[in-house]
Amino acid sequence: MTNTNGNHLYQLNRRVISCRKCPRLVEWRERVAREKVARFSDCTYWGKPLPGFGDPDAGVLIVGLAPAAHGGNRTGRMFTGDRSGDWLFSTLHKFGFASQPTSVSLDDGLRLKDCYITAVVQCAPPQNKPLKEEIENCQPYLLEELRVLMNVTVIVALGKLAFDRTIISLEAIGKCHFDRKQKFAHGAEYDIANGLTLISSYHPSQQNTFTGKLTKPMFESIFRKARHLIGRIGPAD
Ligand code: SF4
Repeated sequence: MTNTNGNHLYQLNRRVISCRKCPRLVEWRERVAREKVARFSDCTYWGKPLPGFGDPDAGVLIVGLAPAAHGGNRTGRMFTGDRSGDWLFSTLHKFGFASQPTSVSLDDGLRLKDCYITAVVQCAPPQNKPLKEEIENCQPYLLEELRVLMNVTVIVALGKLAFDRTIISLEAIGKCHFDRKQKFAHGAEYDIANGLTLISSYHPSQQNTFTGKLTKPMFESIFRKARHLIGRIGPAD
């Protein structure tokens, strides 16, 4: 299973990295990579789409919004090198999903276990706000990941947009029976299909973490639930 899933994801990720379907995002991600910001002026930016990454046999799939301009778009890996990632990886490490609590570069040795990370949009958007057509353009990649990651029984959606798009994507591949009367709420669990649970979380963006809308205990409760639901115990390698 691991090799089959791993090969499929490898091929998918190669296609993602070379994607140029969204002209506005291509122009933006490449301009940010050229112009940089002062604090990262000596870095060589990635400046391309960011494929998902993690354990091909993951039980937990994390769906974020999009890469950050000077985080993932700089380092070449989702949530790597930005404040949201600091929160995410320290929490994943605490619950045995990540081999280390920090993620600063592609070659920092981080390994995920039982966990795979992707996003609704795989290129950094201006103001972290992708357009509807850009979300639609990128959806086939998320659909493919949802099909390939056969062992996923828990999906953690970070933020309302990821939550909505995850449901739309699962419905598109016939894996979801979602009652539309249910609303997004931090920490809510939705039994959306046989053996598949969706957990909604506020996104660990600075907008939420700096204002106290999302606290560390609130965020940790999400991954405590995920760990409990997949029922696999043990630290990441
Ligand atoms: S956002 Fe997705 S569809 Fe658009 S260019 Fe990037 S990878 Fe391609």
